[in-house]
Amino acid sequence: MKAWIERERLDGEVVDCLTVILPTRGCGWDKCYMCSYTLDSDRNATQETVYRAFEKAAGKKQVEVLKIFTSGSFFDEGEVERETREKIYRRAVELGFRKLVVESRPEFLTEAVVEEISQADIEIEIGIGLETSNDFYREHLINKGFSFEEYRNAVERVGSVARIKTYLLLKPPLLTEKEAMEDMKKSIEDVKPYTDVVSLNLMTIHSGTYVEKLWREGVYRPPWLWSAVEILKWADLDILCDPVAGGKRRGPHNCFKCDSSVVDEIRRFSLTGDKGVFETDCECKEKWKLALEAEDLIEKPLFP
Ligand code: SF4
Ligand SMILES: [Zn+2]
Repeated sequence: MKAWIERERLDGEVVDCLTVILPTRGCGWDKCYMCSYTLDSDRNATQETVYRAFEKAAGKKQVEVLKIFTSGSFFDEGEVERETREKIYRRAVELGFRKLVVESRPEFLTEAVVEEISQADIEIEIGIGLETSNDFYREHLINKGFSFEEYRNAVERVGSVARIKTYLLLKPPLLTEKEAMEDMKKSIEDVKPYTDVVSLNLMTIHSGTYVEKLWREGVYRPPWLWSAVEILKWADLDILCDPVAGGKRRGPHNCFKCDSSVVDEIRRFSLTGDKGVFETDCECKEKWKLALEAEDLIEKPLFP
């Protein structure tokens, strides 16, 4: 079980947040081309071990926000049973947390979960990994296994009792940088009526994934940080971005000289929502612009 403290925005304030990775049995889908989260799971986990791990981590430090990630779906009975979830809500309230952040695939956000959340005494935010509003990309380039309509239906069910955070993924494989940026802009417009906040996730290369194979063969490059900055500056809704592995070869990167200051600005923007933080300039920006144009000349007979 991993746990750490980070900073997070809550009701316009910047507060401390305890993030806990609970070792459940892991994602029951486990087929997305970029994901290796099940490496953090424990195939032999029982409800007892899951709750004990939660207790141990949650008691560490009293802060405002508690994030529980399970390397899958918090509302999947195969990972965390309802009884365990209800124990977690009660304990989180006792420990003084004001908000609980969890993640789930849409198929687990049922009417029963709506009832469960409405009885919990704590504000709950649910992160849903939609990745893109484009069903073709989500099915063929990500292998996510659900449709935009399923996402919309789930959000319409739980949106009245929970805050919704929608994860969008910048640059699935086989898209050019420009196509990936256009996909994010279109997706942001499409999710705007359904989500309270968007988390722009920048592709990183996880070990043992299909995306890693493409990257090793030299046919995939993680997104430029400049692309993320442009999308964040363009978006007119509540949006955050945590550039995991930013400035590393396996993560979103520019030229490796300006990366740490751009990553820092993206983090500051995510905490404050202030677009004025983006000040860094670098000669590699011209190269990025050139890449956008050059890649655009490639014909793409594969896509409709
Ligand atoms: S991205 Fe989410 S849904 Fe896809 S395999 Fe990983 S944990 Fe499961
Ligand atoms: Zn640079």
